[in-house]
Amino acid sequence: MVDKRKVGVLGGGQLGRMLIEAANRLNIQVNILDAAASPAKQISAHDGHITGSFKDAAAVKELAQSCDVVTVEIEHVDTQMLEEVAGSVVVEPSWKTLRIIKDKFQQKGYLKEHGVAVADSVELEGASPETIKEVGSKFGYPFMLKSKTEAYDGRGNFVVRSERDAAKAKEVLGDRPLYAERWADFRLELAVMVVKTKDGVLTFPTVETVHEDSVCKLTYAPPRNVSAETSARAQELAKKAIAAFEGKGVFGVEMFLLKDDSLLVNEIAPRPHNSGHYTIEACPLSQYDAHLRAILDLPIPESSLRLREPAIMLNILGGLTPDSHSQIARKALESPNASIHLYGKGDARPGRKMGHITVTAPSLSAAEREMQPLIDLVDNQKG
Ligand code: ADP
Ligand code: MG
Repeated sequence: MVDKRKVGVLGGGQLGRMLIEAANRLNIQVNILDAAASPAKQISAHDGHITGSFKDAAAVKELAQSCDVVTVEIEHVDTQMLEEVAGSVVVEPSWKTLRIIKDKFQQKGYLKEHGVAVADSVELEGASPETIKEVGSKFGYPFMLKSKTEAYDGRGNFVVRSERDAAKAKEVLGDRPLYAERWADFRLELAVMVVKTKDGVLTFPTVETVHEDSVCKLTYAPPRNVSAETSARAQELAKKAIAAFEGKGVFGVEMFLLKDDSLLVNEIAPRPHNSGHYTIEACPLSQYDAHLRAILDLPIPESSLRLREPAIMLNILGGLTPDSHSQIARKALESPNASIHLYGKGDARPGRKMGHITVTAPSLSAAEREMQPLIDLVDNQKG
């Protein structure tokens, strides 16, 4: 055992599951707080897990009492309770960081205060025709309407194309707390996984992310048609953004590369991130290894975060039939360099993240050739 300390995690989805894969190899015990058969618990047989919701204060307290370091796989958590337990257990990253980041509007204001470029945004009382019109005259159309909280995979965003969209916006976003964001007319999207340790801030390589219907579909490492200079600039911006926050662990930084080559930070995740799954096969240390080591103050050689080989990651989402995602996984079995990850989730819903596939190869074009039949299958399934 390299470390006797126990790690507690709020949330037991696929990120918690892959964190446990990393922890298991080091004999580090991870206690998960989530429902009984959650994806993370399925691969970890010990009696330290807690059954309950990571939104339930009493359950968070129970988790804190069962371990030495508490971390999260999701930011939509009760930071009040984390603040309370922080007196008796280490919480990484800091509850202060989680509190700022879980509110996207506050997160953007905080980044701006710290000199990090983000899209202009404005707080809204609600999506009334008057406010929509007001924002439209300020930002022009289209603009983004976003829920400040509880947003993921585009569930919480609405593109306002004209003032006539007010009723539809209200229908989609209902009474959620809202803000509006200027449209970012990006050339492509980039992401960088950043590792914050007791000693400073390190980064994994820059990747390109491709979203479809606001859900990450693919990541390319390295990014396609992006200069080394731009990739380095993205890493610097991501480092600057994360250096502004308290606490340790990995953070995902999503960015827009605009047509004039300038960069804006889109949003930050205070945890392992979909855009970092490729690191499991493509880098000496994965984002999960790095997160575990960072929160436990274990060594992270900087060169372990490098790209060993170009990689492409394809998400396996729930499709039109209950079996669509299994068909993709089965097809990937025929691909010599594909690593297949299924998350052990129950029923597939359209758009639900069921797994992912990573192909690594000596060149990105070789990886593209191998991945193409799988992308075709995904696209054909959509009809
Ligand atoms: P989520 O929390 O659901 O990931 P994001 O705010 O990251 O929400 O938005 C999801 C996707 O929507 C982004 O990856 C990007 O493709 C698009 N998007 C978000 N904000 C903007 C914007 N201001 N301008 C243009 N596209 C945007
Ligand atoms: Mg996002």
